[in-house]
Amino acid sequence: MSHSDPNCIFCKIVAGQIPSRKVHEDDELLVFHDIQPWAPVHLLIIPKRHIVSMAEVTEAEAGLLGRMMTLGPRLMKELGVSNGFRHVINTGHDGGQEVFHLHLHVMGGPRPWAKG
Ligand code: 5GP
Ligand code: ZN
Repeated sequence: MSHSDPNCIFCKIVAGQIPSRKVHEDDELLVFHDIQPWAPVHLLIIPKRHIVSMAEVTEAEAGLLGRMMTLGPRLMKELGVSNGFRHVINTGHDGGQEVFHLHLHVMGGPRPWAKG
């Protein structure tokens, strides 16, 4: 598993080669707004390191995944989302994954967007 993939759009966002609306950055995670939001607030939480998908993660990534999961609620609160949100991870072709760099969708804001 390489650190970065030169053809990956999210690695390019991490490297600053493609602009994004960033909301959080630390040593191992980057968070930015989805370019085609499905919800009033739609964040993508990604590891800076190129991990293809949930199908590739191992026990070694348990801490990283925990930090991804717990960062979402904190950022939603900071962004004023106070009435609930959803976490989604799409994995592989049949899981609806389009960008093959692991990302956690965190979506919140007023319904009815969350129906279905
Ligand atoms: P997936 O279907 O792989 O779970 O979701 C990929 C998400 O990445 C989509 O919601 C899509 O709108 C978003 N996305 C794709 N390219 C870009 C980009 O260049 N910038 C940003 N901010 N989001 C992107
Ligand atoms: Zn990547």
